Amino acid sequence: MKNSINIQLYSSCNCNCSFCHFTDKMYKKIDPQFVLDYLNQHDDINYIVITGGEPTLAIDEYRTIINGIDKTKKRIILQTNGWWGNNETIKEVIKKNPPSIVHLSVDSEKQNIININNVINAYNFLNENGIITYVINHTNNDEEFKTYLGIFPDLKRGNIVYDNGINLYDCGTALLANNTVGKINVKGWL
Ligand code: SF4
Repeated sequence: MKNSINIQLYSSCNCNCSFCHFTDKMYKKIDPQFVLDYLNQHDDINYIVITGGEPTLAIDEYRTIINGIDKTKKRIILQTNGWWGNNETIKEVIKKNPPSIVHLSVDSEKQNIININNVINAYNFLNENGIITYVINHTNNDEEFKTYLGIFPDLKRGNIVYDNGINLYDCGTALLANNTVGKINVKGWL
């Protein structure tokens, strides 16, 4: 049986999407040791969704968690808005500690804040490094979808349901996904 867990690495975001239910202005990072201890006690968890807020804003915590996970037994899905496409520090950490899958989200509201060129650079970087990447647009607006399809030819629409039943909505809203084990997005914060 495949079990999943959502880890809210960082409580806040550098974006301010009106539809996001999970970011705050508290800027709290998770305690990576708490996560590793929790995972060590739950061998049955094999899908780990790393989300936020924007999880790459807690990149040291990301690195510690990834380093401590047995990646032969667990798949790691990173959800991000891709702001870091020109940030060499973040890219280096992701390159050395790659997740199994990245979920990049684009939409007109988000792109009022996050430059689309940064997201394109993040997408290209992930592909160059062989990391499976899904770009998602969640809008009902056909014109908007077509615009982003012109940039990302394999753009998906709506939410993704992975083969294990994990249902991913937007970056922060991943916490709405069915979670067969539990959420550790509060107790684990520093
Ligand atoms: S939807 Fe994603 S990018 Fe937008 S505020 Fe929430 S976490 Fe940030």
